Amino acid sequence: MSSQWIFLSGQFVKKEEAVVSVYDHGFLYGDGVFEGIRAYDGNIFKLEEHLQRLYESARSILLEVPYTKEELTQIIVETIRKNQLEDAYIRVVVSRGSGNLGLDPSNCSQPRLVVIAEALALFPKELYERGLRVGSVASRRNRPDVLNPQIKSLNYLNNILVKLEANQAGVDEALMLNDQGYVTEGSADNVFIIKNGTIFTPPVYLGALEGITRNAIIDLAKEAGYTVKETPFTRHDVYVADEVFLTGTAVEVIAVVEVDGRKIDDGRPGKITNQLLKEFRKVVANDGVKCYPDLNNKAVV
Ligand code: PMP
Repeated sequence: MSSQWIFLSGQFVKKEEAVVSVYDHGFLYGDGVFEGIRAYDGNIFKLEEHLQRLYESARSILLEVPYTKEELTQIIVETIRKNQLEDAYIRVVVSRGSGNLGLDPSNCSQPRLVVIAEALALFPKELYERGLRVGSVASRRNRPDVLNPQIKSLNYLNNILVKLEANQAGVDEALMLNDQGYVTEGSADNVFIIKNGTIFTPPVYLGALEGITRNAIIDLAKEAGYTVKETPFTRHDVYVADEVFLTGTAVEVIAVVEVDGRKIDDGRPGKITNQLLKEFRKVVANDGVKCYPDLNNKAVV
């Protein structure tokens, strides 16, 4: 079996050799930013938007990405090609780099870029047919005035804590509320509810990442003629919704059929949710930065 290649600090290395220093502040303090991106059939979906978010996250924490967007695009494409992938999950990490044990980032010599591309482990089809059971958890979403969820930083402890709570409660995913009790998002996905044909999602200022899938779904839903409102809502609104679904790069669009033990409508994935998933999959098949333009976008295997 050919080995997997990782782009690490300026060169491609084999997966087994892709290691970073224990003095990297990404490891020591979660000091860095990242993106999770997806390629479908050799097309990288919404790459520009992901890079924009990565560079904005970096700017916010005064971290300089050591490549231009054009260079980083080339590196990502090259990582996919080198691993002969078509359907891939891509992880881009920019850490503060190696420093000393002190917090001060000015001791770190240079930011470190890592790009990993792997064959996609698809979510099981049954999960889309059955829908997810979700629970609201006690831990609250990071307050935007403390650690803004718009910064997709390597500090994901808030999200990990709520995932642990969801695991302990025996549900598939957590629903995070903000400190005022408004619904924000899942541990790694945005949330939507549908009531009487209108689609609602929380405004990001309440404490949610501005998901790229979220924005794509808002556009698709509007194109399909639905009204989409970014409005604060509570758990009660979720319990009495006609449909609930989550969006994210990994999960795409997935129905939620139970929240805190309350069945959503008849407890089955809703019609509009299924329609949006279908539309979304149509878009991803025909969109994006092509990794294999010279081969009609097919990898040589
Ligand atoms: N919220 C959080 C906290 C996330 O980590 C993610 C995954 N990046 C999302 C929402 C969904 O965002 P996207 O659609 O850009 O993957």
